[in-house]
Amino acid sequence: GSTIGILGGGQLGRMIAMAAAQLGYRTHIYAPEESGPAADVSPLWTCGAYEDAAALGAFADSVDVVTYEFENIDPAAVDTLAGHGLVRPGAGALRIAQDRLAEKRFVQQLGGLTAPFAPVDSLDDLEEALDEIGSRAILKTNRMGYDGKGQARLSEPGDAVGAWNAIGRQPAILEGFVTFAQEFSVILARGADGEVRFWDSPANVHVDGILSTSMLPAGPLIEGQAPAARALAGQVADALDYVGVLTLEFFASADGPVFNEMAPRVHNSGHWTTEGAVTSQFENHVRAICGLPLGDTGLAAQGVVMRNLIGDQAHEWRDILSDPANHLHLYGKREARPGRKMGHVTRLML
Ligand code: ATP
Ligand code: MG
Ligand code: MG
Repeated sequence: GSTIGILGGGQLGRMIAMAAAQLGYRTHIYAPEESGPAADVSPLWTCGAYEDAAALGAFADSVDVVTYEFENIDPAAVDTLAGHGLVRPGAGALRIAQDRLAEKRFVQQLGGLTAPFAPVDSLDDLEEALDEIGSRAILKTNRMGYDGKGQARLSEPGDAVGAWNAIGRQPAILEGFVTFAQEFSVILARGADGEVRFWDSPANVHVDGILSTSMLPAGPLIEGQAPAARALAGQVADALDYVGVLTLEFFASADGPVFNEMAPRVHNSGHWTTEGAVTSQFENHVRAICGLPLGDTGLAAQGVVMRNLIGDQAHEWRDILSDPANHLHLYGKREARPGRKMGHVTRLML
């Protein structure tokens, strides 16, 4: 049997490892932590820093293909991995998707619509960008942000100093605030042979910058904008010669779909696919990176709702299970900190 290497040991790694096991693969996690949600299901685990080139190289040598649930590793580490074997998706996709400025420029070049944005490397840059873009804006660190972390919202010019301090005075991007009716994501799998399959796009609701629910059907507005968003996402995947699952987040605006960001991996807004689609994002990711044919991405129900269990919400698990229609997923995290994703619950409308 072959072994799949996964960078990162969180819940996404856990769910990739479960899909890999189902298909007869072993998994080997590489993560900076001693343990994590993926440790319960992956037989092999190496604790090492992403900066440790020797350890990363040895890890890549020990597996048949390397993938990741966590894209925020240094480009040098990506090169190390690529120098030791097959990395899917490839280093090019990872480099772009880990850098907000690079991904927005890349998508713009392909004809995609984005919020107005400007690079910010200093307080002076920020003042200038606010003049240009307007003061209703969001300042985001270029790298490493997730779940709304590393972001500061601005509403007036006087907010500049506070926002610059709040994000830790690091290379950033200022985005104009987009007026949108709804949010959605395009989740696709691209096989090693270039075949692309799309799941239906869910309507995503965020609370405090964190995904709260994903719903299908997504309704007429999103259904109307999904084809253009899909076309763009397909172009992105082809341009990067992408292999695996790729996610693009969009705002459904009056001007059409506005690209927000991409993730070169399985995505929280695709968790509904485990029960709600013929083939899950995790299974198709494994199939793609292992060079296997992709499974059907069609809906397996009339509708699906996926709700994240964040912080204390995970304590509701008994109530959730008391309704036999609910599918409960808990990630095995010991400590329920506020804002921490502890699990999710999926419900099908049959
Ligand atoms: P994750 O990677 O976990 O999805 P993130 O930290 O990368 O989150 P974003 O996706 O950039 O954060 O932003 C989180 C949410 O904040 C978005 O889903 C959206 O609701 C809101 N948001 C972000 N950028 C803008 C914008 N330019 N205009 C309006 N709302 C925005
Ligand atoms: Mg993000
Ligand atoms: Mg996002």
